[in-house]
Amino acid sequence: MTQMYYDADIDTAKILGKKIAVMGVGSQGHAHALNLQDSGAEVVVGLRDGSSSFDKCEKAGLKAMSFGDASAWADVIMMLLPDPVQKSVYEKDIAPNMTEGKSLVFAHGFNIRFDLITPPENVDVWMVAPKGPGHRVRTTYTSGFGVPALIAIEQNHSGEAKDLALGYAKLIGAGRAGILETTFTEETETDLFGEQAVLCGGTCELVKAGFEVLIEAGYKPEVAYFECLHELKLIVDLMAEGGMAAMRYSISETAEFGDYVSGPRVIDADTKARMKDILADIQNGKFAKDFIADSDDGFAGLKRMRAENAEHPIEVTGKKLRDMMKITGSDSGDDNFNASTESQC
Ligand code: NAD
Ligand code: MG
Repeated sequence: MTQMYYDADIDTAKILGKKIAVMGVGSQGHAHALNLQDSGAEVVVGLRDGSSSFDKCEKAGLKAMSFGDASAWADVIMMLLPDPVQKSVYEKDIAPNMTEGKSLVFAHGFNIRFDLITPPENVDVWMVAPKGPGHRVRTTYTSGFGVPALIAIEQNHSGEAKDLALGYAKLIGAGRAGILETTFTEETETDLFGEQAVLCGGTCELVKAGFEVLIEAGYKPEVAYFECLHELKLIVDLMAEGGMAAMRYSISETAEFGDYVSGPRVIDADTKARMKDILADIQNGKFAKDFIADSDDGFAGLKRMRAENAEHPIEVTGKKLRDMMKITGSDSGDDNFNASTESQC
């Protein structure tokens, strides 16, 4: 079994001796900057000139500078801008300041794996990728825990890249949950595959198809929504806590029997073959090329697909039902997050 690193295995002396610039203050950026600062690191946030986030950072007690000034000041530059934005900011503001011995750091390997950013050879290039959304990175830290993270080393010019990566991961709270080492290629390809085939793409289409089958058969949309979407969270929470067996222990025998006999009829060898095609398009760079092309086109495709999906009857039914249920418990935290991912401090 691959080694997991925890707080007790990690010495933060090297990373605490570095000046860290966190580029961007969105979902991950606000969480990294605040956690690093609360853990005693010297941190500055990098922002675009004239960004409205300068004010918000000041209010949150974070020092902010322009991208260029922050990367000139820092020893360690963490790229927490949206993936399609990183290349242009890097080329314009960061590359001129990428002097020998500095570290260029990522939370996702996309720009390195697909050769969008090519750092000089005399710097360290490493990754700390929390396996959870930014708001969880912050809220778990403030409650004394953390989100697990992957680290990876692409270039180790100083010979200290792994100590720095582990130290950084510890300072943002990941050592309380567990840190695993991977490579830029493995992290990027598995992350893209997971979100496309299973977590986001696969799950949303599964939920939509189940809902459509029920309403096309004449059942009430409200009931179909509960059965196909609302209950998903309860099932997934049980799986995250104790695997599929724990989930199946909690459900009825009727549900468990149906799970075994019908699940493989939904997801079969053809589905798996198409998942392999998706993985091939990730590995051969087709997905990255299409994504960057759409980004260069002002995300015309993304915006069209977003609008089409928002009109689906399950979304319309769900909105009405959620408003009627007025969920106010701890589970509603994600809604706050969604409303404020752009800029959170
Ligand atoms: P984000 O979408 O929240 O945006 C980050 C910041 O970039 C924001 O402050 C935004 O204002 C700024 N920004 C947006 N467009 C810009 C532009 N054109 N020029 C300059 N600044 C701009 O980003 P994020 O979701 O935190 O992702 C950052 C990195 O972390 C990415 O590499 C992503 O893959 C990775 N990551 C994200 C998550 C997550 O939960 N969101 C999880 C793991 C890794
Ligand atoms: Mg992802």
